[in-house]
Amino acid sequence: MTTPSTPNAESAAFRTALEVIRGVEPRIADAIGAELHDQRESLKLIASENYASPAVLLAMGNWFSDKYAEGTIGHRFYAGCRNVDTVEALAAEHARELFGARHAYVQPHSGIDANLVAFWSVLAARVERPALERAAARQVNDLDEADWEALRKELGNQRMLGMSLDAGGHLTHGFRPNISGKMFHQRSYGTDAETGLLDYDALRATAREFRPLIIIAGYSAYPRLINFRVMREIADEVGATLMVDMAHFAGLVAGKVFTGDHDPVPHAQIVTTTTHKSLRGPRGGMVLCDDSLAEQVDRGCPMVLGGPLPHVMAAKAVALAEARQPTFADYAQRIVDNARALAEGLQRRGARLVTGGTDNHLVLLDVSGYGLTGRQAEAALLDAGIVTNRNAIPRDPNGAWYTSGIRLGTPALTTRGLDPAGLDEVAELIDTVLSQTSPGTTKSGKPSKASYAVADGVAKRVAERAADLLAGHPLYPEVDLG
Ligand SMILES: *Cc1c(COP(=O)(O)O)cnc(C)c1O
Repeated sequence: MTTPSTPNAESAAFRTALEVIRGVEPRIADAIGAELHDQRESLKLIASENYASPAVLLAMGNWFSDKYAEGTIGHRFYAGCRNVDTVEALAAEHARELFGARHAYVQPHSGIDANLVAFWSVLAARVERPALERAAARQVNDLDEADWEALRKELGNQRMLGMSLDAGGHLTHGFRPNISGKMFHQRSYGTDAETGLLDYDALRATAREFRPLIIIAGYSAYPRLINFRVMREIADEVGATLMVDMAHFAGLVAGKVFTGDHDPVPHAQIVTTTTHKSLRGPRGGMVLCDDSLAEQVDRGCPMVLGGPLPHVMAAKAVALAEARQPTFADYAQRIVDNARALAEGLQRRGARLVTGGTDNHLVLLDVSGYGLTGRQAEAALLDAGIVTNRNAIPRDPNGAWYTSGIRLGTPALTTRGLDPAGLDEVAELIDTVLSQTSPGTTKSGKPSKASYAVADGVAKRVAERAADLLAGHPLYPEVDLG
């Protein structure tokens, strides 16, 4: 976390803000206070969550929220955007410098929005533009009805190849129920049945046969490295655009833990991310790209995005400035060290991990060895004050709702200052709860995938140990609400 510029400046700022809010709707002030309390009390292992600094949080709470600023820096559809221009230009500059990217677009409101911008950018550059050229038209408006009909067909007939959901991919990477799986013909690639690792040969074979317009790499629940140089080779070989969604691991790229073949930015034509996961900024998204797509990406708003959120762009600029400080690289390295300690701690106690370990910020624990579903394990751990989420494992026999896995991530606990010894203690607590939880039965006496029972006193004892562990690592130590 950042050092306060004056003692207790953060406390004063948040106390005053709550006082002002209390004057209008006291229940909201109470809920904000209660949320800080709950976050401080819970042992958070949600791999996609983190704790943004007070500076990031404060940058969002102001009159930038009042501005409409559709368009791009210096080219707005509204007057009076000079300060928004300053903010957006600084956020983009920090992003380009931090990631070594040619172009950065910091308007997307979330990771999914960033992906939509990326999809439309590739479609516009590779399908729409050639079609307009063929029709000797400059804009869609210049097309006649027959050209327009043909263009619509062509846009709707493109192919996407992404990592399957159960191998750790994201819904927006071509999952059928998601819009990405409907606007594109989709095919997915997965992991090797034995090792659980990405199978590049199988991916290459699928790409050769399927010839997608876009190959997406990136994940929400894959605990290993990806070789983006190989991904780009495959994409080039089949004429695909390589898009990397680094939503989960952007902080590890920013902190130079992922370099060379494991840094997506030099290899992909387009990279999307969230800003609130390991990158530790405000909730939001971002697109980085090379020169070939910059013009299309900048049309994100109003093409597919609603008006930009200038207050969030201000917070993105602050977070990206933080991520450019050397302390962020230490933080990123500690995330990975902590994840490894958690993985080793669990394995030493007999737990089974998908792929047998981790190289990044997350661990995928197969809870079938405890005789539980992911849903039972998630609920039992929550009873003991440990917040996780259930997650499908490759070829999951319990499907995407009950699942057989628990996803654990270390970015948040690392922000609190826990070290590898602390994460070993966390492994001990998790193993204690799960090994003393039994599955329940349904009313008709069949094994239930949802109900469970934790042995007497175990949840309470573990919750006390978790509270002790957290007490040594206070969250937002600079914030005292009084
Ligand atoms: C979290 C995530 C997203 C979605 O981010 P939102 O901000 O929730 O829209 C997209 N892609 C991947 C890989 C993610 O992990």
